[in-house]
Amino acid sequence: MNPPDRHALNPPASHALNPPAPPAFRLPSRYGAMGLGGCYAPETLMQPLLELEAAFIDALADPAFMAELRQELRLFVGRPTPLTPAPRLAREVGLKSLWLKREDLAHTGAHKINNALAQALLARRMGKREIIAETGAGQHGVATAAACARLGLDCTVYMGSVDMARQAPNVARMRLFGTKVVPVEAGQRTLKEAVNEALRAWAARCDRAHYILGSALGPHPFPLMVRTFQLVIGEEARAQMLEQSGALPEVVLACAGGGSNGLGLMVPFQHDPVRLVAVEAGGHGAALGEHAARTFGAGIGVLHGCRSLLLQDEHGWTAETASISAGLDYPSLGPELAALVLAGRVEGRRASDQEALAAAQRLARTEGILAALESSHALAHLQTLAAGGAATVLLGLSGRGDKDLATFQSTLEL
Ligand SMILES: *Cc1c(COP(=O)(O)O)cnc(C)c1O
Repeated sequence: MNPPDRHALNPPASHALNPPAPPAFRLPSRYGAMGLGGCYAPETLMQPLLELEAAFIDALADPAFMAELRQELRLFVGRPTPLTPAPRLAREVGLKSLWLKREDLAHTGAHKINNALAQALLARRMGKREIIAETGAGQHGVATAAACARLGLDCTVYMGSVDMARQAPNVARMRLFGTKVVPVEAGQRTLKEAVNEALRAWAARCDRAHYILGSALGPHPFPLMVRTFQLVIGEEARAQMLEQSGALPEVVLACAGGGSNGLGLMVPFQHDPVRLVAVEAGGHGAALGEHAARTFGAGIGVLHGCRSLLLQDEHGWTAETASISAGLDYPSLGPELAALVLAGRVEGRRASDQEALAAAQRLARTEGILAALESSHALAHLQTLAAGGAATVLLGLSGRGDKDLATFQSTLEL
């Protein structure tokens, strides 16, 4: 019999006393008193996440990168997007004035392109020629596919097969941009499984590939990076409010899926004396599984690398969610927005499927603008704000409603 391996039983003291130093991020990765956010990633992704943070810090400090980003936002995305007064809708809901920040007019029809383009530029700067992304409704996939075509990068988008069937026009759009769309057949075959698959693909190819995450979610540095690339919405809107109306609004209002358009619009107003309101998907009922309203009593848990408000059942399993708008249909809320809600700075509200549909119809009839069903959740909250005494509201119109035509047709009997 061999003598026992001494080392296995008694590892050298130096091991116990000097464990390898944990990787150190340079930017803050936690939000609020509850320490939301963080980086709950597998070991294989720690190095690429550290590299990504370093590249993000370097790029923000590089005047050439920032100049190219600004130029592409102007010449490709079509920024600045207008701030449109909506006097007829304001009158109908009982407000003195209402201003719409028109992300629906950004290229590809939503705010998603601001982040997708900036991350694609960052990937190219890091020498990565392959892009991985996931998409639910297809808006982030289309934006990423367009940005990759623009910059000559290879793009693969993971999408649940159920979503591929529901969002066939967006699948076709991505393919026209030269993107490979990979169906995901696991679980519910929707966004959550697509994110799992994209993270797995990134772990396998992270030396060559960059993962473009589409909302202010996921492991650090994604939540910070995505919202930073979306700040252009609120920076423009704040200046436009002052220039066009001569004052700041009383309320800044946006819908919240992961939180990227909401944070992009609200953060530049964070230290102003204005109310900030985020509207989540109330779905078709108040029971678990019937909505995606995370700020109403959801616990705190970890999903996709990030600790935040998370809808879960009594065993801690991530709950199913429901919403008429795919972009709001996600069980977790981005950690920075969740922390702002828990701290009382942002008010969390919800609107039901039916309220969102009615609000989209009302905007279309009064102002000639067809809003995305996601943005329509924010529109649905206007009457409540007016009834509570608010007079001037700035609303983030995060996207256009053309992608939702089939839903409008089948639910509104058009
Ligand atoms: C994706 C999407 C949303 C929700 O995502 P956030 O990260 O919360 O902004 C909202 N509106 C539109 C039009 C979208 O495409």
